[in-house]
Amino acid sequence: MLLAATTCVALGYMLANPIAIALESRAPSVSVGSVSHGSLRHGKRLPSRGVNFGAYSLLGLFLGRNTVNGRVRDAVVDAYAELRDSLPMGRFVYGECGWPHGGRFRPHRTHQNGLSVDFFLPVRDERNAVTTLPTWPWRGFGYGWEFDSTGRAGGLHVDFAAAAQHLAALDRAARRHGLAIQLVIIAPEYRRILARSPRGRDVLALLPFMQGKPWIRHDEHYHVDFVER
Ligand SMILES: [Zn+2]
Repeated sequence: MLLAATTCVALGYMLANPIAIALESRAPSVSVGSVSHGSLRHGKRLPSRGVNFGAYSLLGLFLGRNTVNGRVRDAVVDAYAELRDSLPMGRFVYGECGWPHGGRFRPHRTHQNGLSVDFFLPVRDERNAVTTLPTWPWRGFGYGWEFDSTGRAGGLHVDFAAAAQHLAALDRAARRHGLAIQLVIIAPEYRRILARSPRGRDVLALLPFMQGKPWIRHDEHYHVDFVER
């Protein structure tokens, strides 16, 4: 009985996102106001998973915290599709996005009008094999990881080369969908590590990274704000 009830609850969680997507309005999304004071009309949810990516939390999906502007959804999905060829072993995890109708999105300061997405840093294990960052609830849905200044935590280390490839692909995909990347927030010490590789240097030159210290460290994820062109 308990097993059946648990299975039903688990199925409900897993089906909530695809059902919500199937019922979405086909009208184009409208982002109103700014990322820090805004709202969203006709928001679109990101898919739960794809060949090389997945969402951070079934609960987040159930609540609709994976909602963005439709153009952002298309850019995010296209970037992952591009990486299937250039980085076939990549295992990416996206994080918090926004509410279906936008607005205040605690505990974030922004994420209000469908143009903000958090991406967890791609990681490798002790054997240097590509793996997926665990985002269990007891890990704060991924946000509870504390990576050190070199990008290491609990036997995992950040794959900065893959992060740079993802950001470059995201920039290209954003342009294809009438967007631009307006801001990238990542721990300042990680900008210095990115600068050591040619691809990372290109990304640092190309994209507007927040200079200075963000209000939270951003050691396990990078935050991206898009803007419509
Ligand atoms: Zn964020």
